Amino acid sequence: MQSVARHDSGVIPLCEPVLGGNEGAYLSECLESNWVSSAGPFVDRFEREFATRLATSHSVVTCSGTAAIHVALHALGVGPGDEVLVPTFTFIASVNPIAYLGASPVLVDCEQETWNVDPELVVSEVAARAKSGHMPKAIVVVHLYGHPADLNPILEVADRHGIGVIEDATESLGATYRGKSVGTLGRIGCFSFNGNKIMTTGGGGMLVTEDRELARRARHLTTQARVPGDEYRHDEIGYNYRLTNIQAALGVAQLEQLESFVERKQAIAARYHRGLSDLTGVELKPEAEWANSTWWMYPVLIDRGRTGKDRTDVMHGLRDRNIESRPVWTPIHRMPMYASCSRLGGCVADEIFQKGLLIPCSSSLSVADQDRVIEALRECVG
Ligand SMILES: *Cc1c(COP(=O)(O)O)cnc(C)c1O
Repeated sequence: MQSVARHDSGVIPLCEPVLGGNEGAYLSECLESNWVSSAGPFVDRFEREFATRLATSHSVVTCSGTAAIHVALHALGVGPGDEVLVPTFTFIASVNPIAYLGASPVLVDCEQETWNVDPELVVSEVAARAKSGHMPKAIVVVHLYGHPADLNPILEVADRHGIGVIEDATESLGATYRGKSVGTLGRIGCFSFNGNKIMTTGGGGMLVTEDRELARRARHLTTQARVPGDEYRHDEIGYNYRLTNIQAALGVAQLEQLESFVERKQAIAARYHRGLSDLTGVELKPEAEWANSTWWMYPVLIDRGRTGKDRTDVMHGLRDRNIESRPVWTPIHRMPMYASCSRLGGCVADEIFQKGLLIPCSSSLSVADQDRVIEALRECVG
């Protein structure tokens, strides 16, 4: 199948899907067999092959990453009045599902080293709450931009106090933390196959767990909580959250290419590092020594003091040169719905937000286009 690159228009997009494998063949199979809905062979196959790829026991497809996080929280029993620790530096979909369930997010600042949730803040908060008895019901750990969060201290304190950890691994499929796949280390891991993620089904998600009962409950919740049998009987309030066979067909084809997507993203990051590391006033994102990041996105920090330009100036400069870039996530505490939430820590997320810009990183990005981005960025800050 031929992929039609949007940058045939001359614009280098931030991140575009790459459909270069068996996508067309598998979609034709769906049409020829008439299996287009949420029952169909590709749905089961996608779940099976995804679980095998991550070496995890159970996987349940969902229609989005947001739906996976919603069901994960629900399956862990999060409900009205509960509190859930979640990083403030993330995409809104890590947090909204907490609110869907009537629970309250507690927004935790991130650490400089990984930009992910600061484990010390989580550990000290849980220790302090252990004395008062008012524990959080769950902890959502997000692996941002392809880089794993420092999980071990969080898993240890959560284990000791019986708190469920959900990994929002939607941005980091293929990354490893101390040699293990992210998403497989907490009670439940959640993935997304939205259009700009490292692999895509157009829209879709997956939930993985080692816990058979949690997997059964999650599958039940995603299929309207229907009880098997001829009649339409439902034993709780569920959701219509399953993926269709058409989307799963794309998923199977994309999964076959995941390894090469990760390798290409990492090669792009390496080239950007080499091309940008000497640039005054531009800071590059670090990678922890225990992490293998996929570099799903490539962020740079623009230091206004040293370049005389802020990240918006640079974004406009790149736009003038036909290169798309975007600010990093806006911290959740800056959104009106969450402005009054409890917060832990300082303003690391805010500092990164002021300076952070994402530059093009599609796994199809040619070496010539990578060099064009490097040159343009040098001009914009120079
Ligand atoms: C993409 C993303 C999600 C949600 O995934 P969708 O499939 O778009 O619903 C959740 N959390 C983070 C951090 C994401 O980047």
